Formats: sequence, structure tokens, C-alpha cells
Amino acid sequence: MRVIHLASEVAPFCKTGGLGDVVGALPAALAAADDVQVTTFLPLHRTVREWLGTRDADVRDTGLRVAVPLGGGRITARLLELAPSGGPRTIFVDIPSFFDRPGLYGHGDDGLRYGAFCRAVLLGATPLLGEPPDLVHAHDWQTALAPVYLEARRPPALARTRSVLTIHNLAYQGVMPADLMPLLDLDEGLIRFDIMEFHGGVSFLKGGIVACDAVTTVSPSYASEILTPAFGCHLDAHLRAHAGKLEGIINGLDVLEWDPATQPALPAHFSAGDLAGKAVCRSAVLEEMGLADDPDSPVLGVVSRFTGQKGLDLVCDVIPALVRRGARLLVLGTGEPALEGRFASLAARHPRQVALRVGFDGGLAHRIVAGSDLFLVPSRFEPCGLTQMQAMRYGAVPIVHAVGGLRDTVADPGDERLMQGQGQGFRFEHATAQGLMWAADRALARWRHDRQGWARLVAAVMSQDLSWSRPARAYLDLYRRVLAGS
Ligand code: ADP
Repeated sequence: MRVIHLASEVAPFCKTGGLGDVVGALPAALAAADDVQVTTFLPLHRTVREWLGTRDADVRDTGLRVAVPLGGGRITARLLELAPSGGPRTIFVDIPSFFDRPGLYGHGDDGLRYGAFCRAVLLGATPLLGEPPDLVHAHDWQTALAPVYLEARRPPALARTRSVLTIHNLAYQGVMPADLMPLLDLDEGLIRFDIMEFHGGVSFLKGGIVACDAVTTVSPSYASEILTPAFGCHLDAHLRAHAGKLEGIINGLDVLEWDPATQPALPAHFSAGDLAGKAVCRSAVLEEMGLADDPDSPVLGVVSRFTGQKGLDLVCDVIPALVRRGARLLVLGTGEPALEGRFASLAARHPRQVALRVGFDGGLAHRIVAGSDLFLVPSRFEPCGLTQMQAMRYGAVPIVHAVGGLRDTVADPGDERLMQGQGQGFRFEHATAQGLMWAADRALARWRHDRQGWARLVAAVMSQDLSWSRPARAYLDLYRRVLAGS
């Protein structure tokens, strides 16, 4: 089976969130199956070019040029390839006028940029692979036009190619002005309420949902939630109409990167069987963030994009109460200025117990998670969420809002059973400060008064199989069903 993945972010080359992590890890997990060849395509964003340059990566020109119909003319895409390292192939689609720019998104012409990327991949895949791909797997709105082009402008070589679209976050839909359609070489007939029309514009994601053979999202709970008005981001009725081809597959974690026994960004290493290194990580990160070490004061970590989705306003609401209970907070994130400001003033008011770093820093993210006893993920909605899995892998017990993938990955069977090493963490049902504080109080009481039970819980969360093996099997099963036409 030949599978191609298209994504705008692929770790380690570039990532702004979980999408990059997933597309960075899933192809290799799929390729572990004997009969699957996987190729990943991503745009050669300037940040990717810089990443490759600083690492002296071996990138070669495949010599392939694709003439992409756009704006009534054609633009040329070059296909470059990372030197194969035995795993899946990685192809960079180079359209400098579109992608040699700072940052990733928000350039005003994103519709044309990612439309051109999708078209270039569909036109270039067969010459590149030597044979047509059996399956096109697109991720999020940036590549949701791939299934649309496959239906509307199917290259003859791809007559039998099928498609899967994964929604990593329904809140981002790629809504564009409708007058983009002719520029994208797409018929205006697609601007229909039941196809791509969205409040007078067009939604790439909506079109992709119609055109693809299967839609997945990144947890079973989120797959049900997005069928409701509360979580459907105005696409719930559309999704209900296509619910027959929707399923949820929980993400895995890149357990090689998130391995506390080997991760180079950590000052000491540890494992479920030997937690001595975790105490060293804890002291070191407290010092790095400017807080004193104190074995009797629990450390709570937060690593997150600062957006409304993540429920961090609730964390801000409860910080004074957590501080009164003697806890310390390590916060890393960047995003909405209002949240950055709230965290900054709380850190200034409680300099001995709250430390904040504003920014995106992969190494510090590892160190904070490794040094934390507890990890807060109070998201209002969460398609899957990776940080709670990263926390569990590093022995930081998650406190989560019971929603989406958080509900699916963190079972909370009650305090007694948690202390016997069953379940994974502390969940609250209502996204309110009271809900979060109720769960935090349960966790703090157990952390303080039942160290043996806590050790059992930490050992249990660290010993889970959070790898990509199981999700990869679920995707392969789906691919086979799609190709069999069932
Ligand atoms: P989302 O994709 O909605 O941001 P996820 O939990 O799925 O949320 O994935 C977030 C990823 O980004 C995780 O790998 C997390 O460790 C990482 N991350 C988030 N914020 C930061 C930050 N400020 N610095 C470093 N890594 C971060």
C-alpha cells in the first residue's frame, strides 16, 4: 500500500502545536508495517529551510518540477527530498514566492498558498513515487483541498486513489473569500451550502469533509462532541450529515523523543523503576525558573499555547488558592497577550511560587514536565491533547477537564483506586475555577498524605503504552477498509 501524507507542519522541521507532532511521528509508525510505503509532503516554509540549514541536513533536488494551475496561469513547484534514513520519505514542496516567508500562517493569501501546495502534491506524487499513491491522507484545513482536488480535478493516474482527512482541531477551518475559487482552478459550483459555502465564503475543511472517503479526528470523544452545536464550530450539522464516515483515533506520543531515560534536554534521567533522576530534574528546573527547591511543596506544570481553548484563565483564577496551599507553578507558553499579562502579574505578585516563561521552547517544555509532580490541562475543548500524555510519560500526574481526548486518555476512577495504581489522573466535569480547584485539592491532599499511593500512581501512568503502535494499527485498519470500499 502506498500512502502519502500532506501537512503544513511536520516535526521536527516545523511545528506550532500537536499537528506537527502527529505528522512527525505517525508516518514512521505506519511504515513499520511490512506492506506500507509512506511519503510525507510538507511546504518548504522558511522556518523549515532554516532548520535544515542549521543542521546541515542532506537535502537533494529530485529534479521534479510541477506546473501548478493557479490564478489563470501556472506556478512552478520544485520537489526536494531529505536523504532517506531508512524510514518514510520526506518531500519538501518548494514554492519560494509562497513559502519563503516568516512564520507559517496568517499571510492573507493562505488559501492560495496551501491550495497550490495540495495541487502540487497530487500532480507530483506519481512521477515521484513511480506509481500512483493508493491513499492520500490530508491533515487539517491547510491540506483539506487535497481530497477536493482529487474529486474535482482528479489526475488520470490517480483514478483509483482514495482519501482520508484528519481533523486535528475543528476550530481552524480555513475559511476564505469565495472569489478565490476560480483562482484555485475550482468550479464555483462547489460554493454550495452542502459542499464548501460557509457564511458567504468557502471553508476548505467543509469541502474536504464532503470529498474525502473517511474523516478522522484525534480521539473518539471529540468525534462525538463535534456532532453537537456546543463543539461543532458551526459545522456540526455538516458533520452529522457525514457522520457515517467519521471516526476517532487517539493520537500516540513520540515515545523516543518523550523518553525520560534518554531525552538530552533533561539534566538527569529516570524511569518508572528509578525516579531518583526526577528529583534532580525538579530541583534543576525550579532553579532555572528562579524558584527555590522545597521537597514539601508540590510543583504544578503548565505548557501550552495561550488561547481561550486551553482554559488557562481558570488556572489564573485558581493560582491565589494554589499559592495559599503551598503549591508552586511553572508556566511556559505564548499566545494571547491578555493571558500572558495575567500570568505575568500573578508571577510578579507571587515571585516565590509562580514562575512564567513566555515563548516557545521545546527544551524547557521537557524540563518543566519532567520536574513537575502534577500537570494542569483544563482545556474547554481538546481534540486529543498531547501534553497530558507527555506529562504521564514523565511521571507528572495530570489534572484535566473531562473533555475530548483528555477524557479518553485520563481515567479517574476515584481517589482510592488512583492510589492503588488504577486510572491516570484527576478529572473535573465542569470547566470552571471551582471544578479545577476541586480536582487540584484532591490531588494535593493525596500528594501530601499518601506518598506510597502516589508512587503507585506515578509508576502506573509511566508504564502505559502511549506509543504510536496502537493508533498506527487503527489507521492501517481504516486505510484497508477505505481501499476495500467498505
Ligand atoms: P495544541 O496542538 O492544541 O497546541 P497539543 O497538546 O496537542 O495542543 O500539542 C501541543 C504541543 O506543543 C505539545 O508537544 C507541547 O509540548 C508543545 N508546546 C505547547 N506550547 C509550547 C511552548 N510554549 N513551548 C514548547 N512546546 C510547547
